[in-house]
Amino acid sequence: MGSINLKTGGAGEETGNVHGRAGRPRSKKGGGVIKTELLDILACPRCKGGLDYRPEENELRCLACRLVYAVRGDIPVLLVDEARAFE
Ligand SMILES: [Zn+2]
Repeated sequence: MGSINLKTGGAGEETGNVHGRAGRPRSKKGGGVIKTELLDILACPRCKGGLDYRPEENELRCLACRLVYAVRGDIPVLLVDEARAFE
């Protein structure tokens, strides 16, 4: 008795549950998106010093390095290459 089993694809479909992260409320827009708790752990990637947040410009400044780090959305771009110098 020769039974030929042709396996065409898996029997169980694996569709990984994709949980969308759309449930985050964005209350404030424009200025002050960085929370104080976050600011405490943020540090300049160059000197590891603390950063000065400017809500009006929505950017972070390192006074020691004289570099400005942009904030995209609510994510600070803490990269020296992306930073720009200021006077
Ligand atoms: Zn610095």
